[in-house]
Amino acid sequence: MDVNEFRAAGHKVVDRLAEYFGSIESKAVFPNADPKMIRELFDEALPEKPESMEDVLKELEEKLLPYCTHVGHPGYMGLITPSPNPVGVIGDFICSALNQNLGVYSIGPSAVAMERRVVRWLTDMVGYGEKAGGNLTSGGMLANFIGLKLARDWASKDRAQHEGVRERWAVYVSDQRHVSVDKAVDAIGLGREALRALPTDAEFRLRIDELEEAIANDKRDGVKPMCVVGLFGTTNTGAVDDLTTLRRIADREGMWLHADAAYGGGMLLSHDFAMKDAGVELADSVTIDPHKWFYAPLDAGAVLVKDETRLTVSFGMKPAYLTDEMEGAEERYQYYVHGFEQSRRFRSLKVWMSFKRYGTAQIGDWVDNNVRQARHLYSLVENDAEFEAASEPPMSAICIRYLGPGAERVDDKKLHAEVADRVERSGRFWIGTTELEGKMWFRINPVNFRTRQEHMERLLELLREECRAVVRG
Ligand SMILES: *Cc1c(COP(=O)(O)O)cnc(C)c1O
Repeated sequence: MDVNEFRAAGHKVVDRLAEYFGSIESKAVFPNADPKMIRELFDEALPEKPESMEDVLKELEEKLLPYCTHVGHPGYMGLITPSPNPVGVIGDFICSALNQNLGVYSIGPSAVAMERRVVRWLTDMVGYGEKAGGNLTSGGMLANFIGLKLARDWASKDRAQHEGVRERWAVYVSDQRHVSVDKAVDAIGLGREALRALPTDAEFRLRIDELEEAIANDKRDGVKPMCVVGLFGTTNTGAVDDLTTLRRIADREGMWLHADAAYGGGMLLSHDFAMKDAGVELADSVTIDPHKWFYAPLDAGAVLVKDETRLTVSFGMKPAYLTDEMEGAEERYQYYVHGFEQSRRFRSLKVWMSFKRYGTAQIGDWVDNNVRQARHLYSLVENDAEFEAASEPPMSAICIRYLGPGAERVDDKKLHAEVADRVERSGRFWIGTTELEGKMWFRINPVNFRTRQEHMERLLELLREECRAVVRG
């Protein structure tokens, strides 16, 4: 492909995507198609002969686009994958063209500087000081893993990096945690059984009395408290743990405090619902995902650390000389020695461009709109005898369930799963289901700048119709 062909194809793709964004609301959110049929569309041997770009793009039109989940559709309120903001889409295109490798300074001096700046913006947003740093990651999963590894290494006085895990340790978190915490506790060598997933209160916040009891039990059994994970925005209901108290307990017990704000981080930009005194800055490390509630296209997660030298000590192979290097005037920051990943994508470009183009003003407005939509749905459900809500949403995630006439006659799991299926087939919305307090719920979570209040009203009416229909049988 020469430069002229690239230009022509690029223009064509941009025109097509502009049309896509312009007409996204008229599409079915989820493709009503047989998975086997979709698989067979791609069933072909490795191509040997070249095809024209025109033919390749034509194939995308036939095979890829019609069977996408349109997460930018205003009715997409499902798993936390936002409507990607168009500036970020352009950023990712440029990112691939330049192909800067963020692992090492020599493959991207300006890109490294930009990434350092984006990390600084995020640490400022959290309320960390000058000594803070971090890594952009593939997502919250890897960020939680890095946070827990930092905890482990710190708790072992930096022996675990070399000797592995020699002590019996425990990690504490609420039962509303994301599964990535379980995986991280396994990956750092403690094993999943070292995780204490503790009960929550009526607002789905970690119960402090349960935490105290678990710590006391562990200590009695010779297990050392290593880390407590506080949630700033649970995946189910956006619940926020009492980070101030967790900090106090962590200090008393010599534990690391990691805050998981993968989803809830967006609230740090909220104008109208800002959670002052939430205490995110009290954590030793924080997971925050620009690809969730900052509306960046995948992938862009982040782990932030109050003391950035902890990253170096945990991941650098020669920490002493690397610290010197950072203090030198000719600083060449090498991300691969201050983080887990080596070759990696220039993720900060799309985040930088989005913050520049929209400012925190616009992104904060989007966040507020999503919170308002969830609260609007909550107020409708509060006054509706056929539905109940699990809790008043502090963020934009809300769980509701059907309890209209006859609901008690049908299996609650089947009812909610069948209705979510029907909603999917309608093509108008996409929502999830979840289990809370031993019951099934619809999980509805606008992280979407195209969603409007009327969509919440229409969704509730659709749910009512479909629930009634399933109950009637
Ligand atoms: C989504 C989520 C994660 C995982 O993040 P990914 O970016 O999907 O890897 C972790 N924690 C919480 C609370 C989340 O909502």
